[in-house]
Order: sequence, then C-alpha cells, then structure tokens
Amino acid sequence: MAQYDVVIIGGGPGGYNGAIRAGQLGLKTAIVEGRGKLGGTCLNVGCMPSKALLHASELYEAATGGEFAKLGIEVKPKLNLVQMMAQKAESVEALTKGVEFLMKKNKVDYIKGWGRIDGPGKVVVKAEDGSETVLETKNIVIATGSEPTPLPGVTIDNKRVVDSTGALSLPEVPKSLIVIGAGVIGLELGSVWKRLGAEVTVVEFLDRILPGTDTEVANAFQKILAKQGFKFKLGAKVTSATASAKQVELTVEPVAGGAAETLQADYVLVAIGRRPFTEGLGLESVGIVPDKRGVIANDHFKTTAPGVWVVGDVTSGPMLAHKAEDEAVACMELIAGKAGHVNYGIIPGVIYTSPEVATVGQTEDDLKAAGVAYKVGKFPFLANSRAKINHETDGFVKVLADAKTDRILGAHAVGPNVGDMIAEICVAMEFGGSSEDVARTCHPHPTRSEAFRQAAMGVEGWTMQA
Ligand code: FAD
Ligand code: NAD
Repeated sequence: MAQYDVVIIGGGPGGYNGAIRAGQLGLKTAIVEGRGKLGGTCLNVGCMPSKALLHASELYEAATGGEFAKLGIEVKPKLNLVQMMAQKAESVEALTKGVEFLMKKNKVDYIKGWGRIDGPGKVVVKAEDGSETVLETKNIVIATGSEPTPLPGVTIDNKRVVDSTGALSLPEVPKSLIVIGAGVIGLELGSVWKRLGAEVTVVEFLDRILPGTDTEVANAFQKILAKQGFKFKLGAKVTSATASAKQVELTVEPVAGGAAETLQADYVLVAIGRRPFTEGLGLESVGIVPDKRGVIANDHFKTTAPGVWVVGDVTSGPMLAHKAEDEAVACMELIAGKAGHVNYGIIPGVIYTSPEVATVGQTEDDLKAAGVAYKVGKFPFLANSRAKINHETDGFVKVLADAKTDRILGAHAVGPNVGDMIAEICVAMEFGGSSEDVARTCHPHPTRSEAFRQAAMGVEGWTMQA
C-alpha cells in the first residue's frame, strides 16, 4: 500500500498548486483527479477557455464593429467558429499538459481516478476501468472544487439550456441568448456571444448587476454594457423553461410581484452561482458534515476531522482560482510545520470583459455600512492619454483610503486592462501602503496605470491630469 505525507483530492488550482508547494517542501505527495486531466474547472471549463473566447471575440468585434476601420485597417472578417473553438481547446490542452509536467518536476504522484476518503488516513481511488487503489497518508487535503448551481424549474440539457460548460462550446452563434444571472459568468460569456453576433438579454433576480461589487462601479459597468447592446431585466425571476429542438421559452416574473411574461431565445445560459462539490467523497467516514450549502467549514484549512484539510471552492470564501491557490500554499506550509497565512482582505476580483472590472479590498458600500471614515480619489480613463489614443476611454479608477491614516482600504475600477493593474494596489495594500505611497510612485508614461496613480493623488485632492 502506497504511503504518503499528503494526498490531495482534486487537481484544480487548489489541488495542483498545493501539490507543487508540498513537493517543494519535501512532502511525499499524491494528487488524485477524476476528470482525466489536471487543471480542474479553471483550466478545463472555466478561467482559461473563457479567456480564450473573450480574447478571440474581442478581436473579432474590433474587426467587424468599426474599430479596425477607424484605425485605418481594412479587412473583411469572417467568423470561423470551429477554428475559434479549436484554438481554445489546443491552448487548454497545452496548459493541462504543463500542469502534468509540474507534477513530475516536483515529484508528485498523479493518480487518475475518483478519490473517496475511507476513514482517517485512507483514500481509495477508483480508476476508469473500475480498479481500486488504496493510499495511506498522514494528511488528506480536500480540493474538490465546485459545480454550477441548478435552478429549479429549468433543466440544463446542455443543448439549448446550457451551463457555463455548455456556453463555452455552443455549436453556432445564437441569434438570441438569454443569460440567467448578472454575475461574472453571465457577463463574461454573454460578452463572448454578443461580440460574435448574438442578441443578449440578462435576467437578474436582484435590482442590480454584480452583487457584492462596489455599487458605483457596477452601475457604471451596466451602462457601458447597455451601450454595447446588452439588454437587462433586473428584479426578475425565471420560474420555468421549456426547450424545443430550436428554441427555449422562459416564464419570467417580477420579483416584486406582478404579471409573468414569456421570453423566447435560441439558447439560455444558466449562471446563478456555483456550489461546492463533494459527491461520493466519503466525508461521513471521517465525520465531516458540510453546511446547508454544501460548504466544508475550515479553521486555518483544518476541517473538524484530524488530519483532513480543505482548500478552494469547496470551502468558504470567494470562488476564485487565485484564492484556491493561496489557500493551498498556506495549507501545505502549515502541514510542513511552517507559518501559512492567507490575507482574505486582499483577494482581488476581475471580470475579463471589455472594459474589465477589477476590485480589491473594501467597497464604498462596505465602508459606509461599517461607519469607517474614508476619503475617495477618482480618475476617469477619458483623461488618460494612453486610453484616449487607444479609443478605450470608458470607465474610471477609484481609490479608497482611511480618512485619518491614509492607508488604502480598497480600489475599484472599470476600464481597459484594469485586471492586470489592480495587482499594484494589492501589493501596496499588503505593505500597509497609503494613497500617497501610490501617488508618489513614479509610473511609466504613457500607460493606463497612470490612471491608478492619478486616482490615488485624488485622495488628497491633487489629481493633476483631470
Ligand atoms: P476546481 O478547479 O473545481 O477543481 C476541483 C477538481 O477536483 C476538479 O477537476 C474535479 O474533477 C476534481 N474532483 C472532484 N471530486 C473529486 C474526487 N472525489 N476525486 C478526484 N477528483 C475530484 N476564477 C478566477 O479566479 N478567474 C477566472 O477568470 C475564472 N473564470 C471562471 C470561468 C468559468 C466559466 C468558471 C466556471 C469558473 C471560473 N473561475 C475563475 C472560478 C475558478 O474556476 C475556480 O474558483 C477554481 O477552479 C477553484 O479551484 P479548486 O481547485 O477549488 O476547484
Ligand atoms: P455569481 O455569484 O457571480 O453570479 C450569480 C448571479 O445570479 C448573481 O447576480 C445572483 O443575484 C443571480 N441569481 C441568483 N439566483 C438567480 C435566479 N434564480 N434568477 C436570476 N438571477 C439569479 O455566479 P456565477 O456568475 O455563476 O459564477 C460562479 C462563480 O465562478 C463565482 O463565484 C465567480 O467568482 C466564479 N467566476 C469567476 C470569474 C472571474 O474571476 N473572472 C469568472 C467566472 C466565474
């Protein structure tokens, strides 16, 4: 029987990053993955394929929507959806192979099959051919991730009514697409298909898009999306869906009450959130009881069962790949007897639309609710020279700092490339930095990053370029 220091169940960003760190720390490690490929949701059906389609569709829209012509580039673009999907699949394949290489490099055993905890220190792996391998280990790390949350009354057939996985591989560009849920998946994948030619309507339960995001940023973003052609039905709930061979009929009711209406579309994407995945995991064998939503609770990544740890989407906190990665690293460091820590106050969130949305730290809504005295600095991309020259002037950056100490409490932006640039605010915040620290740091010109500097200057009222 194989003996390990750590057996990780799940090969996503939580699992594979944890495995790399465990290998680096000299722990004898195995990673168990059932889907036949490493990388989890993120690489196979999440972050990476969605970004491949967002990139390709953005260029397609620039070519067809008049931007290329404006730049003096005359082309006659034609969509080849089969090739667009093929290049996505190729990139994903290369990434999953890359993760497999990293397992070898760090001396981690990659065991293919579905893992089941079978009492303390024991994991049974069932391979595709039905054979079972038993692994004995000092530590078990649960990193089994999440799956789409189903919507009662709406059956996902992944033909006409799809979840995010189906929406990453539609066989044609829909004439009309209804997206249920104005969250990250709905707006990213809605953007992909809108750019390729679909008419997109988003039906959202709440009276706003992107709950939890800074309200001013979310409202500005909604206006930008509406200008791009998105239609929104807020404060509305879908109560049923009937799919035929070529169409879906939805019954939609106002949440506040009132008459139901019927909407039709070629395709419907259900994107109302994700829920932890623990099916067949044998949690009962070590006495772990997930909460009502299926979440396995943790205290510094420890579950209630001795020697069983948990990281990523399957535990509490935002369902983000980089959060899973950071938890996994800290978890392995704790297992190896070192100090491991995640700063949950500084986990950035990015929506990879065009323009992007990026946010870190507390929102204005959070600060108002907590009664914290804060100052705001804001800068519009309309006044940023690089954005202006690139015709990307929608959006703004907002920096929030403590009114007394000037310590940065959060930053929220909608604009070009803000997803990359938010990292500078994350670093500043990790160092306990002030708005003045960012404002007095020399930024390269001409870059969009100057918008962050100018917004930071705005906290003390000395924004120079607007
Ligand atoms: P997962 O990535 O879900 O990995 C868990 C793995 O465990 C899976 O491969 C599963 O097959 C395996 N598994 C489960 N049970 C068992 C078992 N019993 N035995 C063996 N294997 C098992 N996040 C971002 O930060 N940025 C993004 O841009 C982004 N885009 C996304 C786009 C989409 C369409 C979706 C759906 C998600 C996106 N996410 C994004 C979220 C991100 O994918 C998740 O937060 C991340 O994958 C969580 O990592 P994880 O390791 O916890 O779980
Ligand atoms: P989400 O939580 O971001 O958004 C779900 C939306 O659906 C919310 O606005 C919610 O109010 C709405 N909703 C819930 N029930 C509804 C109903 N019955 N009818 C209409 N609307 C309803 O969830 P998601 O977009 O499905 O994404 C799932 C997870 O994946 C998120 O936690 C997200 O962090 C992660 N993800 C991240 C990225 C990224 O980082 N760029 C991209 C995609 C997904």
